[in-house]
Amino acid sequence: MGEQAKIQERYAASLMNTFGPPRLVLVRGEGPYVWDADGCRYLDLLGGIAVNALGHAHPALVGAVTEQLQTLGHVSNFFTTEPQVRLAERLLSMLHVDGRVFFANSGTEANEAAFKLSRRTGRTHLVAMEGSFHGRSMGALALTSKAAYREPFEPLPGDVTFVPYGDAGALAAAVTDATAAVVLEPVQGEAGVVLPPDGFLGRAREITAEHGALLWLDEVQSGMGRTGSWMAHDGSGVTPDVVTLAKGLAGGIPIGAMVAVGEHATLLGPGNHGTTFGGNPVACAAALAVIEAIEAEGLLDNVAKVGDLMCAGLAHPHVTEVRGRGLLIGLDLDAAVAADVVAAAQRHGVILNACTPNRIRFAPPLVLTSEQASEFLEVWPTILDEAYSGTAS
Ligand SMILES: *Cc1c(COP(=O)(O)O)cnc(C)c1O
Repeated sequence: MGEQAKIQERYAASLMNTFGPPRLVLVRGEGPYVWDADGCRYLDLLGGIAVNALGHAHPALVGAVTEQLQTLGHVSNFFTTEPQVRLAERLLSMLHVDGRVFFANSGTEANEAAFKLSRRTGRTHLVAMEGSFHGRSMGALALTSKAAYREPFEPLPGDVTFVPYGDAGALAAAVTDATAAVVLEPVQGEAGVVLPPDGFLGRAREITAEHGALLWLDEVQSGMGRTGSWMAHDGSGVTPDVVTLAKGLAGGIPIGAMVAVGEHATLLGPGNHGTTFGGNPVACAAALAVIEAIEAEGLLDNVAKVGDLMCAGLAHPHVTEVRGRGLLIGLDLDAAVAADVVAAAQRHGVILNACTPNRIRFAPPLVLTSEQASEFLEVWPTILDEAYSGTAS
């Protein structure tokens, strides 16, 4: 039995089966590559689900985390640290807003905080989008549309209306003067990288403003450079009231953040919300290192360039659509063979993700070079051929 098989057997006997069997046992990584316990190398085009912005073992991230941990690792929120304050300042300037930040440890927690903030408007009605994903805790789950995730846990916190993503008419009909907030992803990630029609964010801003409802953008997956700009909503001309962040923010160290703009930042006051770990100095130092590296290495431009190269190179007779922005890319296959494509890719040393039976998602490290992307694109037709002829299953 190989080393991987042994660990997988121990996993099955000791880990709760919430994710199904793990596909690989990974032991190390460098840049956009990871290695499994049997010594095979993979090009990681999932990036820990849009998390490993700087790839694996980036020296700037390793250095910042190591130094902070050697200096001061955790203090609780009875105290603060300079990295925590600096990161909050940095996020506010990145969003070009006056506001305040609440730090959490994950995307679902950032959204949970925003959910609670929305209740402090005195209203309870929320509007979310079909195809949305906002996390697995009860509040975030109440805003997540997928029936298979929700139904085993009902009743969830109520008063949520779902409207088709990108449908401004349906949104206008759903939002009333009793609506606390409209929550949406500027690009839907888990749904398979779905973009709204042009102008949708602007219409959402107008509709929420008309009714005094908050516009809450979930940038947990799409934010922090993933789409080639700091935020996916940059360039839309829209200033949201609330933004939630997590995944790529600290490049793999757990963190989440909720930013509330202007007067909305005081909706949560002393005693309204809290966390033991949120804003931990190690996580904040990691996020600062990620932001500095994205700037120093010109990664926003790299994301746009390599994203274009990927989108062009993914075209294939079996691919009916390629969608995306920057290095958040989804494609549709003409048959329900996404799992076979993932399996074939793995045999060719590439990590991919199937988000539906016929959709593949790419969310590679932002450091992925054109050469590394081309290395994958050369083998892409072979991966598809094998998946379609069933030789990978
Ligand atoms: C992943 C994701 C979440 C949940 O984040 P976790 O860190 O897994 O809790 C929330 N919103 C969006 C848009 C996401 O992609």
